Amino acid sequence: MHIVMVTPECAPVAKVGGLGDVAQGLSYELSIRGNLVELILPKYDCMRYDRIWGLTRVYERLMVPFHNQWIHCDVYFGFVDGLKCFFIEPRSPQNFFNRGVFYGQRDDPERYAFFCRAALEFMLKSNKHPDIIHCHDWQTGLVPLLLFEFYKHLGMTHPRVCYTLHNVGHQGLTGEHILRQVGLNPALFMRPDRAQDDYSPATVNLMKTGIVFSNFVTTVSPRYSHEIRSTGMGHGLQRVLNAHGAKFGGVLNGIDYNSWNAEIDPQIPFHYTADKLDDKYRNKEKLRDRLLLRQDFKPLVAVVGRLDRQKGVELVRHAMFYALSHGCQFVMLGNSPDPAINQEFWRLKHELNDHPDCHLELAYNEELSHLIYAGSDMIVIPSVYEPCGLTQMIGMKYGTVPIVRNTGGLADTVFDADHAPRPYHERNGFVFNDYNYQGLESAMNRAVHMWYQSPQYFRELAVNGMRTDYSWNRPASDYLNIYDLIREK
Ligand code: ADP
Repeated sequence: MHIVMVTPECAPVAKVGGLGDVAQGLSYELSIRGNLVELILPKYDCMRYDRIWGLTRVYERLMVPFHNQWIHCDVYFGFVDGLKCFFIEPRSPQNFFNRGVFYGQRDDPERYAFFCRAALEFMLKSNKHPDIIHCHDWQTGLVPLLLFEFYKHLGMTHPRVCYTLHNVGHQGLTGEHILRQVGLNPALFMRPDRAQDDYSPATVNLMKTGIVFSNFVTTVSPRYSHEIRSTGMGHGLQRVLNAHGAKFGGVLNGIDYNSWNAEIDPQIPFHYTADKLDDKYRNKEKLRDRLLLRQDFKPLVAVVGRLDRQKGVELVRHAMFYALSHGCQFVMLGNSPDPAINQEFWRLKHELNDHPDCHLELAYNEELSHLIYAGSDMIVIPSVYEPCGLTQMIGMKYGTVPIVRNTGGLADTVFDADHAPRPYHERNGFVFNDYNYQGLESAMNRAVHMWYQSPQYFRELAVNGMRTDYSWNRPASDYLNIYDLIREK
């Protein structure tokens, strides 16, 4: 099959969170199975250009209609870890993708509306007729609408669209001007069964638009697909998801075992397997040295992730104090686009600056993240909600035992050591239900107690996690089945 991924992120060149990992890992798995996979991304100025191989301008003067004008674009091609990627560079005064950041700009809806139009215009002009266009998150929600409204009539009759919701907490809410900018008549689309937001009649909801106009919609775990349809966690999308329930399902994300694998990871000093777990602890020593923590007989508890309300920042903070007062060391790697949250963690960092058992790294640091996964004993993920979550799966692949809240993809991947209705060899972590201090403490307490009192059981949990298959093997088959179901035959 010929599959084009239209995506705002792809690891490692343009990664903000899990979406970047998914675009890369899924594309890689699909391509090694013999499919032709191409990715289309914006050409951001802040990309990791050192990780793109052979970047060349392959299309000049792509003229993209936008807001009553033609925007002149160049398209570049390069390989990212072997994946074929096209990067769209608009030459316009708005400088859509030269902002030094990926997201968080006031005109994000305009930037990505333009990207959708440009991606389709590029496919049309370069004669690409993929079987499947796979779009991701609100940023690409206009692709299916533009395809069926315009590009189908210009000859792109073949492609079908699969649309993946990575997080319904971000839906791309904007005004109806966005429709005019991409050439659509708002009178036709500002309707409850089309682009209009269900709760605010003057608002265009880009994610909802993607759901309505795609041939199939997925989200990133079965539990999250249930939660957003049926348990009030849909951030207002319940109605449209239920209306389109027949074409909606959850596919659990995988992780890319070429990037995340303790056996071969070039970013960790000591490689190890489930059979040679002792070598993991040499990474723990290295991590302690690097972060100036003392070498001591204590478990090392880690947090890696965006510091966002969704991630349960109050409980992250509590986990830190709880760990430090219960015989553990604590390491956190995270940053936040929210200045108030950032400020709070900087204050904590200064307060704990000289603590021999605690280090807060308030930054984005891919390389350090690998050493933390390898060198820690436990990883805490106390999310308010979690569509899939990759850090628990990555942690498990490195023999780091997850302590998670029972929500979304965390619930689909972590099975409690004491209470899971599963055989012992499938239990791999600690799970708590209630989003409060007691809930978190109950799970941390059991984990820390087991580390000290029953190390052989703790080790078994780590080994069980390492042996579980969280690769893209199965999810890629699920996606291929979906593509096969919807493609034109
Ligand atoms: P989300 O997509 O909600 O941010 P996920 O758990 O799905 O969360 O994916 C997070 C990904 O981003 C993981 O690969 C994780 O290692 C990485 N990550 C998050 N924060 C950082 C950071 N500060 N430095 C390096 N990597 C990070």
